[in-house]
Amino acid sequence: MSTRALGHAPSNANGPGLPGAISGRAKLAGVIGWPVAHSLSPRLHGYWLRRYGIDGAYVPLAVRPEDFVNVLNALPRMGFVGVNVTLPHKESALGAVDGVDATAQEIGAVNTIDVTAEGRLAGRNTDAFGFIENLKRGAPEWEASLGPAVVLGAGGAARAVCRALADAGVSEIRIANRTIARARTIAKAIGANVVPWDERSAALEGIALLVNATNLGMEGKPPLELGLGALPARAVVNDIVYNPIETGVLRAAAARGNVVVDGLGMLLHQARPGFAAWFGTDPEVTEDLRAFVFRGLAARG
Ligand code: NAP
Repeated sequence: MSTRALGHAPSNANGPGLPGAISGRAKLAGVIGWPVAHSLSPRLHGYWLRRYGIDGAYVPLAVRPEDFVNVLNALPRMGFVGVNVTLPHKESALGAVDGVDATAQEIGAVNTIDVTAEGRLAGRNTDAFGFIENLKRGAPEWEASLGPAVVLGAGGAARAVCRALADAGVSEIRIANRTIARARTIAKAIGANVVPWDERSAALEGIALLVNATNLGMEGKPPLELGLGALPARAVVNDIVYNPIETGVLRAAAARGNVVVDGLGMLLHQARPGFAAWFGTDPEVTEDLRAFVFRGLAARG
């Protein structure tokens, strides 16, 4: 696997060495979670704020589930321009904001909330955007027309992945999930095919893209057991798990010569729309940023 895929590019220890001072007019944003200490979003947005010399702050907001709605409703009154929402609030945010876009509705979760000029809370989900942007940049040779895609998993992340692939024009998506009923629900929504979990390895025949959207292979979870014998040599393999960055399936796919794309870039790209709306700049995902966030991930353990 390349050093790029592993996020080992050299970087300054503290990110961009630009002024971090904020004024009384600083724009305020943050991430709401419980717990929130593990979140990489403050590190990520803080990097961009320094990189672009923006008068703003992005803070971790540790909010218990029972306080979530009250805190959300207070945000406009406190002058916040927006927030990200992470576990365990992503689903409850759907019903707690004033409106959600169609993607968030379909995915069943909100991860980004914009405070409008009128003080309303507009919810959206940027995971589908983050997924496809990361895939396009990590595997520029991949195109939707190259062939079917297999998506493993049928949770919230898989729904975002499937929506992104359908929007990109992939005409055949095969979804395999341990709980087949969940796969059927997504398949019905986007017009995909369902594959029994036990047949996932055989389903790789003839595909152009494999995406792991289960949490298998993640730190503390069981490994993803998958035979790659049927996987075409030209197929791209993307694991959206980013802890560890080099998962077992990526290592095995890279060893047999497949192009692999790790999950860290999805995390970075999904943050762009929020940052752009709140701070007025569509931020760049660079090698230096990847390395900076990667070090935060490594330090987190
Ligand atoms: P989720 O809603 O809890 O879904 C978990 C998925 O994993 C389900 O499909 C579940 O199958 C499957 N699974 C769990 N344990 C399994 C097992 N022992 N055997 C087979 N399948 C199993 O989680 P999520 O929010 O979709 O997230 C999934 C993964 O994506 C996580 O690792 C998360 O960190 C990652 N993610 C990454 C990004 C990024 O930016 N890179 C963004 C979002 C999520 P069942 O339906 O049968 O339970």
